[in-house]
Amino acid sequence: MSKIIASAAIRGASRLVKQAEEMLEKAITEKGADFTFEFPDTAYYMPLIYALTGFAVKNLADMKVALSMAKEQLHSEPEEKIWKPYLGEALDSGMASLFAEEIIMALRYIYGLEPATDPETGYVYNGFITDTIQRNLGIQLVDGTMPGFAAVIGAAPDDDTAVSIIRELQEKNILIFLAGQVNGNSVTKQLLRKGVELGWDTRIVPVGPDTEHTIYPLDWSIRASLIFGGKKPGDFKGHLKYTKDRVFAFALVLGELDDIKWTTGAGAINMGYPAICDTDVPVIHPTGVCIYEEVDKEFDHSKIVQKAIEVRGLKITIEKPPIPVAYGPAFEGERIRKEDMFIEFGGSRTPSFEWVRMKEMDEIEDNKVIVVGDSWKEKYEKGGKMPLGIVIDVAGRKMQKDFESVIERKIHHNINEAQGVWHMGQRDINWIRISNNAKKEGFTLEHLGIINSTMTHTRFKSIVDKVQVTIYTEEEDVLKIQEEARQSYKERDQRLGGLIDENVDTFYSCLLCQSFAPSHVCVISPERLGLCGAYNWLDCKAAFEIDPTGGNQPIKKGELIDARYGRYTGIDEYLRKASGGAVETLNLYTIMENPMTSCGCFECIVAIVPEANGVMIVQRGHTGMTPVGMKFTTLAGTVGGGTQNPGFMGIGRNFIISRKFLAGDGGIKRIVWMTKNLKESLREAFTKRAQEEGVPDLLDKIADEDICEDSEKLLEFLSSVGHPALEMESIL
Ligand code: SF4
Ligand code: ZN
Repeated sequence: MSKIIASAAIRGASRLVKQAEEMLEKAITEKGADFTFEFPDTAYYMPLIYALTGFAVKNLADMKVALSMAKEQLHSEPEEKIWKPYLGEALDSGMASLFAEEIIMALRYIYGLEPATDPETGYVYNGFITDTIQRNLGIQLVDGTMPGFAAVIGAAPDDDTAVSIIRELQEKNILIFLAGQVNGNSVTKQLLRKGVELGWDTRIVPVGPDTEHTIYPLDWSIRASLIFGGKKPGDFKGHLKYTKDRVFAFALVLGELDDIKWTTGAGAINMGYPAICDTDVPVIHPTGVCIYEEVDKEFDHSKIVQKAIEVRGLKITIEKPPIPVAYGPAFEGERIRKEDMFIEFGGSRTPSFEWVRMKEMDEIEDNKVIVVGDSWKEKYEKGGKMPLGIVIDVAGRKMQKDFESVIERKIHHNINEAQGVWHMGQRDINWIRISNNAKKEGFTLEHLGIINSTMTHTRFKSIVDKVQVTIYTEEEDVLKIQEEARQSYKERDQRLGGLIDENVDTFYSCLLCQSFAPSHVCVISPERLGLCGAYNWLDCKAAFEIDPTGGNQPIKKGELIDARYGRYTGIDEYLRKASGGAVETLNLYTIMENPMTSCGCFECIVAIVPEANGVMIVQRGHTGMTPVGMKFTTLAGTVGGGTQNPGFMGIGRNFIISRKFLAGDGGIKRIVWMTKNLKESLREAFTKRAQEEGVPDLLDKIADEDICEDSEKLLEFLSSVGHPALEMESIL
């Protein structure tokens, strides 16, 4: 049996290599061998080829070299093949296919054919997946909210089956890529016909119409190993082990298989990704050929997702509140347009707020939802807009006043994860919409309460024993209790403002990203949040209470060794152990000497600009050039992977306005360039900090992309405005 498959895979590989060769020859004739090419927004050239061979493809001539490597995989004796000790013959041809597919896609980009468009509907596929998206998804990959990835190849027997398979994957929070077709039909087309919202927001990402497009998710997944794993280009064993052990991907192949599907599948198996088919495929058994995952089959479409999860060994735990609509992070990104909206609250249209309040155990009744106001049902039935106050009272033996804000910040996710319900903002500037569809399914105001009590219990088990939710709908009540809430927000902010590194003896670690970046540890202090921006000191404190053996551990600061740079004995000791020896010592308040490591999901990168005697800051997603001569993606490629890189550091956005930001290097006065996006989003708090530093107009003295994108113009600008960094002691 395995012979049949091997020969199909080898046949497919030969065809792909030949196709790539022909396309490449044509391109070289028309454009010249030194014609350069880059996939959009990546620092990793042709990622799969780069990861496995270390060869950086930069132009058409390089593609020819890479293609000859693929050809060698096809023709040479097995033991000459670079990965022979690791893989069998059919799998070698599979990897050759992936190389060829990567080259084919590059050439299609050169000719303007990618991202592909569906001729019937005009739908534009995603095409190549950028580094930015890889980094954006970083935290979800590690905190368990996104337990796996499915490439769904081909077409389901009918549209409804396609929808139900995809919904099941969505409800299990699995990120879905769609590619390939069967006789002109595809899951993408099936979902489009059914009006399913596609895209990153709903985690259903059609990458292209052909099987060859499966290369996009594959070379996206290999970048996890480069970006987070810190594996070196060329370390093919390391990369393939990494993807097998840490990237929980699998393929669902719907409909008949052809040679191209077999050979692409063989390539994916190299990476540890099994395929589950709905047709009577011969199942590979490891007879002679070394295969660590298998191709499997399941004819029943209502069981195929479960089968895939078992084969790939995904751990999935789903907590769903008892509400009449679907629920899960996959629905978080969904928008509700005005036409689809049944009712809305807040958003400066009506008074509205949300507030978590700590109570004594005997003051509240667990899981009770109270909707106040006699006429709320009539008002709600009318639709349109209405005032809304949500008060969540929590009590628990391990509950602390400080956790109110931590729990409150989750309201956004709690509500947003319901299908057809949308939430934005927080506190007294929140905004909620309920869709017509959700209303039709029977969603009411009470469900807003049920969602919050269920999810607060789920997310904060062991610190929350009781949750009671009260929903106010009368304008008078909302306004009155909003005042109390505002008072409480204010007190909280004051208390938080007084929470400084010197006043606590315990910092926290975050080890979540170790599942992807094994030596990375975020050290989180009251004045320095995690570099992904998602965890601050209080979050970690709460997380430790919830799960004392989890990813956030207390670190006793120990003796202060260096006050200026922020170095402590306790932290060094902890880090040596927790980083597996990769980090010997850490300085919290400098970028110049033993700075914090980065995993890869940083919100921003700080880099020194030696000529300007300062630093620049660029945020993830910024695509322009920066004064250090590198774009964000390129910079990011040099910072991640859990190593210390003096002069470069990944940080959370809000760290910029902390008093401890590069405090040992001179603080915010060192910032000479920062994107407009950062300037605008931090303006208020930054200006306050600048006043404290005695340079109230500092923000205007900092250059941005409109002023310059190179260091020469930067220096001109800095001297013209008299930037303080020019007068400071040398940063080097
Ligand atoms: Fe990863 Fe650090 Fe964020 Fe934790 S705080 S999830 S380790 S980036
Ligand atoms: Zn991370």
